[in-house]
Amino acid sequence: MRGGKTPSRAVPATLPGLASASSASAPPRHLPPEAHLPQLQQALLAWFAAHQRPLPWRVNYTPYEVWISEVMLQQTQMERGVSYFTRWMARFPDVAALAAASEEEVLRLWEGLGYYSRARHVLAAARRIMDRHGGVFPAALEDIRALPGVGPYTAGAIASIAFGEKLPCVDANVERVVARVFDLDTPVKQEPAASAVRAWALRLVPEGKAREHNQAMMELGALVCGKKPRCGACPLAAFCISLHLGIVDQRPVPGKRTPITPIEVVTGVLRRKDRIFVQKRLASGVWGNLWEFPGGRVEPGESPEAAVVREFEEETGFAVAVDSKYGIIRHGYTTYKITLHCFALSLAGADGDLEEAPDPPVLTAASAWRWAPPRELEDLAMPAAHRKLADRIFAADAPRRLPGA
Ligand code: SF4
Repeated sequence: MRGGKTPSRAVPATLPGLASASSASAPPRHLPPEAHLPQLQQALLAWFAAHQRPLPWRVNYTPYEVWISEVMLQQTQMERGVSYFTRWMARFPDVAALAAASEEEVLRLWEGLGYYSRARHVLAAARRIMDRHGGVFPAALEDIRALPGVGPYTAGAIASIAFGEKLPCVDANVERVVARVFDLDTPVKQEPAASAVRAWALRLVPEGKAREHNQAMMELGALVCGKKPRCGACPLAAFCISLHLGIVDQRPVPGKRTPITPIEVVTGVLRRKDRIFVQKRLASGVWGNLWEFPGGRVEPGESPEAAVVREFEEETGFAVAVDSKYGIIRHGYTTYKITLHCFALSLAGADGDLEEAPDPPVLTAASAWRWAPPRELEDLAMPAAHRKLADRIFAADAPRRLPGA
């Protein structure tokens, strides 16, 4: 791994993609970054001051807002994150309001962001701040780190952005910028490059400017040094080793890709009069404590129709019959892609005039159940694919019109 040493390869006389600030015909000479850290820091801070996006958590920089924004933005696009953040702050403006909320409500507001353990951790952390810190967000790094669900990245982000502590924030954007500027020639998520990224990220933080610098690095990665870098608009172009070697397209070195696993699943909507059977998933495991229509995986060689009947009976004890197929919902997650076959069900052999909706004889995959009127589904937190199903089935203007039906 090159790791920031002055490049041994010949530096081209002209700098690809780099326009000089003073003269188009005289591009600036290369300034090896490790020998010009103060200039690099200054250039980055000046760029951030002029180009940062106006984001709601950049107004007051309260630890609570920084914390929630950082947790929400992990694996989420900025635009989407801002809309969730705004909605969240309207409902939970401070730690006390969050700590007093029910898990049900927190999950419902989080719905669609995925990674629901984060929402549960955020709630547990708010309650801990009320219990152990008198409702005041702790400033000491070890106290921040001790909050449920707060790992090294989030702790560093809160400590540096909210409290100004000299710590790095290393997200995917920062990895990319560091790998290119310092020409790291091994995959950044693995050693030895991972340690080199952390070391450079820390060394780059200027004294007294951790808040601005860390955000500037992430912002640069998001706005300029993205998958298709715009080196002509980059404040670090004069320092960037990869640019000067003409190998920007080879940095960062790609790591091993996690294969996407396709999964075939089924779910059934069992109606009784004007109510629908839903169950609350067990707290442990994927989508813990979220509500869903019962169902599960299609076994090898099994038809989706047979699978939904089997799964429904295994999970609830109800013997059901398939009335019709609503359609198919496809939803992608980080490492798998589901194809969800959705069916309308009825109780097998049940008297159509039965007034009461019966209790499920067993409950093997859930901690609670409910015969819910359709409008109540709006208030329940559901996994994304089940929310799609609920929305599509019960949308007044387009009932039972799913693609693939
Ligand atoms: S945008 Fe180009 S010049 Fe700037 S850091 Fe990225 S690769 Fe280097």
